[in-house]
Amino acid sequence: MTQSSKGTALITGASSGIGAIYADRLARQGYDLILVARNKARLDEVAKRLGDETGRAVETVAADLGNKADLARIEEVLRTDASITALVNNAGFGATAPLLDTSVDKMEEMITLNVSALTRLTYAAVPGFAARGTGTIINIASIVGIVPEVLNGVYGGSKAFVLAFTLSLQKELADTGIRVQAVLPGATATEFWGNAGTPLEHVPSEIVMSAENMVDAALAGLELGEKVTIPSLPDVGDWEAYEAARHKLMPNLSLNKPASRYRLGAST
Ligand code: NAP
Repeated sequence: MTQSSKGTALITGASSGIGAIYADRLARQGYDLILVARNKARLDEVAKRLGDETGRAVETVAADLGNKADLARIEEVLRTDASITALVNNAGFGATAPLLDTSVDKMEEMITLNVSALTRLTYAAVPGFAARGTGTIINIASIVGIVPEVLNGVYGGSKAFVLAFTLSLQKELADTGIRVQAVLPGATATEFWGNAGTPLEHVPSEIVMSAENMVDAALAGLELGEKVTIPSLPDVGDWEAYEAARHKLMPNLSLNKPASRYRLGAST
């Protein structure tokens, strides 16, 4: 028998990898789905399988989220479909090469998808969620958001944005009934790596997690109420200490005089 619906989850980048696993897991949790990516044939394949296996309603919308008009269509869906109770901002791509070996046009394309599209989709979803007093936003960031030295710097910067934006939303939306989670996957076994310029086989297997384990851990983290989930981090206390160190800086980050180490004397 089909479980009662938890509403509809709109998942971007659901044609492969992490997004396709979110689709699978959320359908099994009782969500109907709207799956978004560019490749319609792959989306339809995921939708058919999940529809058959779970009995949930699964719709697909082909859209290039780097294209303003396509993005606007998805924003409109989020603004007008009151059945939507969850948004998984997952579509994104990365690069492994440094500045000297990458084109700025490709980097701008990355910012457009990883940052601008995610921002616009969030802006489209939040007012309805707030009005209805419920909703879940899962933003797929990356560990490179906190260690940007590891891969391409623009990719790291784009994921640092996702983390910072999510932390801010958690504060802004605290009393609205909306859950907002940032997920920071480490290396995950998907097509991401080949597309980013490093074949997955070249990544040491001891640092690569399956997409299934990554998503299952992230969803478990969501249920635990984690605002930030790092699926492989053994001791959550390490993240809490990192956050505590950041907050400890807060009282001194904006003062009316420079620090004494700059030896500027009394200001005039
Ligand atoms: P993936 O298998 O390459 O999936 C990327 C998804 O995004 C695909 O469904 C792709 O579908 C979609 N997409 C790409 N460009 C798009 C566009 N312009 N418009 C709409 N959809 C687009 O890689 P993945 O690992 O699952 O990546 C998912 C997310 O996880 C990304 O945000 C990535 O940065 C993040 N992440 C991945 C890793 C990792 O090691 N794999 C680690 C940390 C974070 P179409 O090609 O059909 O459009």
